[in-house]
Formats: sequence, structure tokens, C-alpha cells
Amino acid sequence: MENRSNPPPHVLIFPLPCQGHVNSMLKLAELLSLAGINITFLNSERNHKLLARYTNIEDRFAKHPGFRFQTITDGLPLDHPRSGDQLMEIFDAMKLITKPLFKKLVLETKPPVNCIIGDGVLGFTGDVAIEVGVPIIYFRTASACSFWAYFSIPDIIEGGQLPIRGNEDMDRLITKVPGMETFLRCRDLPSFCRVSDMTDPNLLLVMNETRQSPRASALILNTFEDLEGPILSQIRTQCPKIYSIGPLHEHLQAKLSAKNEKSCQSSNSLREIDRSCMTWLDNQPEKSVLYVSFGSFTVMTRHQLMELWHGLVNSKKRFLWVIRPDSVATKDGEFEKIPAEVEEGTKERGFIAGWVPQEEVLAHKAIAGFLTHSGWNSTLESIVAGVPMICWPYFADQQVNSRFVDEVWKIGLDMKDRCDREIVEKMVNDLMVERRDVFLSSATRMAELSCDHMISEMEV
Ligand code: UDP
Repeated sequence: MENRSNPPPHVLIFPLPCQGHVNSMLKLAELLSLAGINITFLNSERNHKLLARYTNIEDRFAKHPGFRFQTITDGLPLDHPRSGDQLMEIFDAMKLITKPLFKKLVLETKPPVNCIIGDGVLGFTGDVAIEVGVPIIYFRTASACSFWAYFSIPDIIEGGQLPIRGNEDMDRLITKVPGMETFLRCRDLPSFCRVSDMTDPNLLLVMNETRQSPRASALILNTFEDLEGPILSQIRTQCPKIYSIGPLHEHLQAKLSAKNEKSCQSSNSLREIDRSCMTWLDNQPEKSVLYVSFGSFTVMTRHQLMELWHGLVNSKKRFLWVIRPDSVATKDGEFEKIPAEVEEGTKERGFIAGWVPQEEVLAHKAIAGFLTHSGWNSTLESIVAGVPMICWPYFADQQVNSRFVDEVWKIGLDMKDRCDREIVEKMVNDLMVERRDVFLSSATRMAELSCDHMISEMEV
């Protein structure tokens, strides 16, 4: 029972309103709530409606005493598509419109807020926390390796290794990111570095948001020491207090199982989940299917879609492919339907869905590999499930993650910058046939390490 003289602390959690960020920050919120901390989780109005519609969120959290949702505008009209190439618009609108409302909310919330856990890419949560005198902890929802690459961008520029000039050899080594001197190439830098102007607004945004991290009381990262220990040590030279608390989805599942509560895998979805793929998977042989998905943001051209599709079909492997209705863009910024040829030609060995329960898919015994955009949630979900990856990064942190998957962790292949049917076919066969045992054994080992870490934390 709550001790009235010493009530539990009240933590306000505020993610960037995008799928990957909401997903992991809501999992952290649930874990903290299970530990007895009072939580206010701040959702954008739009996302809260979507979570309520697709995941029954109000009911799920009703069982957590001391947990409540509040909503706030993200500053954009409700019908704005909020896709990957419009990220700047989201940040600008939030700084202008959401920030003052956020400050008002922090000041007026009862009981008073004892600590803010702000999304580390929303530096204004730190501004507000400092203005109103509440401690701020940042949660960066991406990998430690990408955080460190972002942090090092000013040093790369100062060392004369950026900008990337026209016709540059993209395999040139970047030696100004401590801990990555021997393997980080130009092409592995965060996508925002692929500009000639070092005052590009996207580049400045990620650089500045990252550089202000040390002012927070602590930094939370959804990773674990066995995966990113050496890079975490580098980050500690700048941000000494780090909580490396991942993989969050695995921790949450373990906690709920220990309490005999049903865990809701893939439960923080902002889209309608099509579960029919699970029946299809049930009918496939063990470790025979390549799961293909590029997350919630990636937008590709029709040409890229066709190259990927031909590569998959030519590989003669079974595949389950998530093609969102907003996956394929035309030149006018509209979205294309899946070509009939692709729909028809997939039926022999494949299955296409608009959005799936990804954590469950990756845990399914039929899955043998994952062709991914290397978003951090997807990468961690694949690691926990012991599924080797082929990486086709789209933007932001994904270019760094895919390099680590291939070169450092050796749990997959980096297809970066090469979307060509022959490469796709070759990589699928490398992953699922030629080097299958090697990849499976390293992926299984990494999955065990993610689990070991979790058990020792639980014992503490
Ligand atoms: N996801 C899902 N169903 C899908 C595709 C993706 O539930 O069909 C989830 C996936 O499990 C992950 C998140 O969406 O948790 C995507 O986050 P990630 O960081 O990988 O990429 P982003 O969408 O931020 O680019």
C-alpha cells in the first residue's frame, strides 16, 4: 500500500510521436509502472487515437494503478501524412506549437512531476525541464553506435572528413569516431551526413539535439552491454550516467510472464495489424521464410520495389513482405498501389501484408531471416529472436546500425546502397543457404546474450 508521507515519484514521459519512439518509450513506461512509479505518458492527439483504435490501449493500461495518458498536439493538421521525408516539419511544428503547451502541462500537472523522461531528439523537453526546475532524463530510442556517430559529427567536420564531396569514394574510412576508426566508412555515416552543405537543417538538427545530451541528469539507451559495451564506454566520456536497459520488449515480456500476465507482443502499433500472415506462417516449413519489412517510415520508388521483388522471387525462397499502403511513392508525392504483377507473382511462394505483428512474426519458427531497413526496434527485435538480417538502410541511424550488424556483430549482411535484383537474390541465398549455419550460430549466440543480461538484471 502507498505510504502517504512518501508517495511514489511521478514521472512524465514524452516520446517523439513516431512509431519506433512511441513503441519503446511506452514499453519503458509500462516497466516503470510495474515497478510502482506513477507515470503520465504524453501522446500526440493523433497517435493516442490510433493506439486506442488498433491496440485497445486504454483497457490495457487500466490495470496499472498510477498510470495515465495525456494528450498534446504535435502541431500538425490531423490529415498530414507525417512520412519520413517530412521529419523536419514535425520537429518545427513541435518546437513552435507543442513546446509552450508542454511547459504549461508540466507546471499544471497534479501531482507535481518529479522527473521528465524526454525523447532525446526533442531537446525542448530539456529546455522546459530546466526552466521549471524538474530533473530531465533523456531516452534516445536508437542504438548507442548511432548516437555516438551523431555526437562525433562536429569532430568529423573539424577533422576534414566531412562534407562528402561529389564523386567521392563512399568506402573512404572515417577515423574521427572513437571506437569505430577501423570500419566506419563514408557510406555508414548517418544519412543526414550525405549533404555538401554542413549547415543543412536536418544535419544541424541531429547534431545539435545530440550535442546537448550531456546536460541531462542521465541518458537511457535501449541496448545492452554485451551488444554495445565498447561504444557505451565511449559515450560515458561525455554522458557519464547511462542506463543501458535494453532490450526493452524482452524485459517487459519477462516481467509480465513472471506476474502470470499475458504479454501483448507488438502491442503499441499505430496501424491496423493484419494477423492472417500468422496462419500463412503456420503452414510453412521450419526456418524457411524470409521476413521483409522496412518499418513505419521508409518510402521507396517503384523501381526499388520491383528490384527487391525480382530478387526475392529469383532467390526461390519463401517470403513474407510488409508493404504498407504508403510504402511506394510516385514522383508527385502520391502513393502507388502494389503492382498487379507483384501481387499475382508473389502467391506461389510469398505473402504480402500491410502491417503485421512483427515481434510475433520474428519469433515464429518458420522465420529464417529478416530483410530489414535496420530501424533500431526492428534490429533489436531480430536480435532477441535470433534471426539473422539482410540490411537495406533507408535513413538516419539505420546506415550505422547496418554496418554494425554486418561488420561488428556478424549477424547479417549489409546491402546498403545496392538495391539491385541480383544482389538481393545473392544475399538471400547467402543468408539462407550458403552461410546459413554461420549466421544462425552468431545470431543465436547474440540472442542468448540479450537474454543472459535480462536474467542477471532480474536477479538484482
Ligand atoms: N512493426 C510492426 N509491424 C510491421 C512493421 C513494423 O509492428 O508490419 C513495428 C516493429 O515491430 C518495430 C516498429 O514497428 O517495433 C518499427 O520501428 P523501427 O525502429 O524498426 O523503425 P521505424 O519505423 O522507426 O523506421
